[in-house]
Amino acid sequence: MKRRQFVKTGLAAAASAGLLGACRGPQEGAPAVHTDTRVTWRIASSFPRGLDTIYGAAEVLAERVEALSEGRFRIRVYPAGELVPGLQVLDAVQQGTVHAGHTAGYYFTGKNPALAFDTCVPFGLTSRQQTAWLTEGGGLELLRPLFADFNVLNFPAGNTGSQMGGWFKKEIAGTADLQGLKMRIPGLGGQVMSRLGATVQVLAGGDIYPALERGAIDATEWVGPYDDEKLGFHKIAKLYYYPGWWEPGPNLSFYVNLDAWAKLPAAYQQMFEVAAAESATVMQARYDARNPAALSRIVASGVQLRPFSRDVMEAAALATESLLEEEAAGDPAYRRVYAAWKKSKQEYFQWFGTAELAYDSFAFPRVGA
Ligand code: CA
Repeated sequence: MKRRQFVKTGLAAAASAGLLGACRGPQEGAPAVHTDTRVTWRIASSFPRGLDTIYGAAEVLAERVEALSEGRFRIRVYPAGELVPGLQVLDAVQQGTVHAGHTAGYYFTGKNPALAFDTCVPFGLTSRQQTAWLTEGGGLELLRPLFADFNVLNFPAGNTGSQMGGWFKKEIAGTADLQGLKMRIPGLGGQVMSRLGATVQVLAGGDIYPALERGAIDATEWVGPYDDEKLGFHKIAKLYYYPGWWEPGPNLSFYVNLDAWAKLPAAYQQMFEVAAAESATVMQARYDARNPAALSRIVASGVQLRPFSRDVMEAAALATESLLEEEAAGDPAYRRVYAAWKKSKQEYFQWFGTAELAYDSFAFPRVGA
């Protein structure tokens, strides 16, 4: 086994077993991972500090890398707007203004539509499926050349899990109720909603509440109970719809400038990769552990939970399919990623639709029964 592979395999195994804190050092025969080089990196986040789940994943990365390197490799994380605006993180990494960014591919589909597959597309993969596709199903191999065009090396950095459909002031009984509905929903989900008749708006996090309060919008999506509660939507919209079919398992990413990566000592590269994997695990776990209590508080405040009706879901799924097929027809690079992704999706859905679905659909509704 090559030395590099040994370090990679050994560290990954240690990380997955939760053993890094107990590591005493390299095993006999393994290369030393110590280096005296001092490195300080800046990471620009697309997220505000208040989103402790998402933003916090970059802090997990920074803390772990610093501990593993015994303080020699330090990373400072900057919230959106402090160094660069949240939606300019990819440009900042590409230009080397910062060493890395913490962001999401679907913010940058204007540069290359296929970057959406790094995050998620409507009616796409769940969190576990997205992770499986990226890391073991060939997704990263397909996407990394696209990111290399921006002088970037991308690493999965965590997932929110299935999001909520969001906050509505009026009932959505069927697709007729979407006609003219003014909704804040960005990205591909917004394009689908637009095809279903909604008037779509894109507003930054801090602008949503006042717009919803004064009636400039009738509805908004954000993330899920834990994050939504902080923005206070439950105080002004009493219908909380689910699921957020446009974000069934959105993956966040660390984007590293390739020149900065090349200058990084090999051991620090390994530390970064291991810590990124850990921060991804931590982020999903935080959402899964914190959302339940937040949802209970939201419901206790008088909010009603509503599933989207079957016809809304069907219409949205069909509109999504047309949208993705149209994009694939006109863009060979997109088509290549889409075809591979679609094949994996079919396989994953078949498998997850067996044991996982049978268990979930039987066991989850029985809670409290
Ligand atoms: Ca969302």
